Amino acid sequence: MLFRNISYIDENCQVKTGFVETSEAKITYIGSEAPEGNTGRVIDGKGKLLIPAFYNAHGHSPMSLMRGYGENMTLSDWLNKKIFPFEDKLTKNAVYWATLLSMGESAKFGIVSTSDMYYFTEDMVRAVTESGLKANISRSIVNFTGDSFNKMESVTEMKSAVERFRKTAKGRVLMDASIHGEYTSDEATVRELSQYAKEHNLIMHIHLSETKDEHEGCKERHNGLTPAAYFNKCGAFDIPALAAHCVWVTEEDIDILAEKNVTVCTNPVSNMKLASGICPTHDILKRGINLAIGTDSVASNNNLNFFEEMKMLGLSAKIKYMDPTVLTPEEIFRAATLGGAKAQGRDDCGAVKVGNKADLVLINLEAPNMAPVHNAVNNLVYAATSNEIVMTISDGKIIYEKGEYKTIDMEKTIFEVKKAKDKILKSI
Ligand SMILES: [Zn+2]
Repeated sequence: MLFRNISYIDENCQVKTGFVETSEAKITYIGSEAPEGNTGRVIDGKGKLLIPAFYNAHGHSPMSLMRGYGENMTLSDWLNKKIFPFEDKLTKNAVYWATLLSMGESAKFGIVSTSDMYYFTEDMVRAVTESGLKANISRSIVNFTGDSFNKMESVTEMKSAVERFRKTAKGRVLMDASIHGEYTSDEATVRELSQYAKEHNLIMHIHLSETKDEHEGCKERHNGLTPAAYFNKCGAFDIPALAAHCVWVTEEDIDILAEKNVTVCTNPVSNMKLASGICPTHDILKRGINLAIGTDSVASNNNLNFFEEMKMLGLSAKIKYMDPTVLTPEEIFRAATLGGAKAQGRDDCGAVKVGNKADLVLINLEAPNMAPVHNAVNNLVYAATSNEIVMTISDGKIIYEKGEYKTIDMEKTIFEVKKAKDKILKSI
């Protein structure tokens, strides 16, 4: 595939114009002259901008079944009265279709890869593989009852998934480890899972200091240790780690995250919707920590619109610090692209660069809300709505183009998700 006379955002966040060629899964040429020997489709760049695709660093894809199911509730009511009873009735079939729906929604919003924490791993892998998109899937581990690690069903499911699915779909599907959170497991489980992840070279994906209750409760449960200090003590940060939320982290916590090279994934929309608070992203960036962006589940968002996520990240940071100069559009755009790719251990993703995977999004600059262009990144972060997405490409394959899905039967998917949702509701 060849993009001719196309404006693109390069790895330094600068807009350049030229020819960008992809071959199979990779970007094979970038230059001011047309490459020789291209036989694939040629796309004219007039009025368009080619950008790296987005990497959603924290999601729970199957929860699309619960979009809009509980609103205006406290977190504990929402979880205990709505989410947990619904999840109790989930089936493999429901998870498969709901994940496929989330993949379609992701492509529509320019996301090609998701760090996806849930269960029914096998069905999630099947949906992601079929969609042509990518995911770092983790079987989330919780242990409320002090069960021994190796006897837990969830651990058996995780181990089997790691053996069967790591690096499937030509590396599009990767497996991560996941301890759900400090408050949902005991210390032995955290230590054993960290050890397992270390032995298998897995990334550790966790929820960290999402709410004030969780943060303060942890200190009471663990002799004054914050969740970051506790996880560090248990060895969870001795491997590449991805910490979602980090709303209540302290300066000392940020020291730990910086020292241990932990990626922080901020979830601005979900954190505002559940009134959890605002992540101190400016302090996190100042310390050189890798920042990524996540949607969290659509049950608390309620969509996967990454343009909304970028804008809310900027706006919420400015209000938190009461300073309009914190978080530049470039820092936000990097978090949505390179930061997310790095969080997923995808070193050859996240930038329009020769040799990288061809994970690309084609943007229409001729929409009224995108004109004029003083600075393309400023428009992407604050003016774009997602309607400007013309095409989403994952590993060189077009997944979504002008409202059409190339790999997903969206009509059937929506029908099956509705059917699964109705069936679950009847059984509650
Ligand atoms: Zn989450």
